Amino acid sequence: VKTDTRFLWEHSDVVQTMPKRKRSSHKGTHGKLLIVGGSKEMSGAVTMTAKAALRSGAGLVTMAVPETVYEAVASCVPEAMYRLWPAEGGAFAGVADWAGLDIDAMAIGPGMGRTEGVRRLVSELVRQPVPLVIDADALFFWDDYAERVRERSAPTVITPHPGEMARIVHRSIREVEHDRFGVSKRLAMEYGVYVVLKGPYTIVTTPDGAQYVNATGNPALAKGGSGDVLTGIVAAFLLQHEAVQPAVNNAVFIHGQAADWLVQNGHSLWDVLASDVIDALPAVLARLG
Ligand code: AMP
Ligand code: MG
Repeated sequence: VKTDTRFLWEHSDVVQTMPKRKRSSHKGTHGKLLIVGGSKEMSGAVTMTAKAALRSGAGLVTMAVPETVYEAVASCVPEAMYRLWPAEGGAFAGVADWAGLDIDAMAIGPGMGRTEGVRRLVSELVRQPVPLVIDADALFFWDDYAERVRERSAPTVITPHPGEMARIVHRSIREVEHDRFGVSKRLAMEYGVYVVLKGPYTIVTTPDGAQYVNATGNPALAKGGSGDVLTGIVAAFLLQHEAVQPAVNNAVFIHGQAADWLVQNGHSLWDVLASDVIDALPAVLARLG
C-alpha cells in the first residue's frame, strides 16, 4: 500500500467542503431520503437513523418499516413520512409496492433483522438507481447481492463495524483489525464502493483506493445505536454534497465530534446515549455555519 493515498481528514477539510444552504432552497433541494429498516426486536435503530438524517439537513425523510413497528416508530419521528413492508416477507413486491415513492438516496439496514423477508427486500433495494448506504443487518446478506453492488452505477457506501466487515470478507475480526487499511482497500476497489470501516480511527476508503482516517470520536460511542446515528448523517450528507467522498468523511468527522462535544460539555464517557449524539449535532453544525 502506497502511503501517499492515505490522508487525515481534518476540521479544515470539513469547513472547506460543507455545502452552503442556499437562501432560495426548499425541502426538495435538500433531497428525499428513504430509510429502510426496523423490526419488532429493534424498533429504535431506524428511528435514530431518521432523526440523525433530519438533524443533518435531509429535506424529506420517508421511513419504510415493517407494519409491526409502524405505530411505535411513527410516534417517535413526526417529521417523517412512512411506507410499510410485511415483517414476514409475504406477497410483497418491494419498491414497486411503495406507490408514488420518489427518492434521491436510500439508507438500508438499521435494526432490520435477518429474516428471509429482509434478505429478499435488501437484494431488491440494491437494484435501485440512487445513492445507497448499506449498514447493519443489510450487510449480513452481503454475499447474496455483492455482484449486484458491483454493477450499480449510483454510489454505494457501506458502513461496517469490524464484526460486519469480518463477515463480508470471510475473515476473522482479528484479521480485519490487523489490516484495516488493506482489507478496506481491497473491498472498496473490488466492488467499487465507499467503505467506512468503523471503530476508533474510522477509515473511509473510496472506490479508487484513496483512504482517509478520522480522528474525532471517543469511547462514549461504544454503545448500541451509535452506528445507526452515523448512517443517518452519511445519508443526509450524500443528498446535500456534490461529491461522495467529502460527504462521507464529513459525516464521520461530525458524528465523532458530536460525541467529543458531549464529553467536553457535562457528559462522561459512560453516560452518553446515541440519542444524545443526535442532540449534540446542532452544537457541532452551528460552528460550521
Ligand atoms: P456500531 O457498532 O454500528 O453501533 O457503530 C459504532 C460507532 O461508534 C461507529 O461510528 C464507531 O466508529 C464509533 N465508535 C465505537 N467505539 C468507538 C471508540 N472507542 N472510539 C471512537 N469511536 C467509536
Ligand atoms: Mg451498527
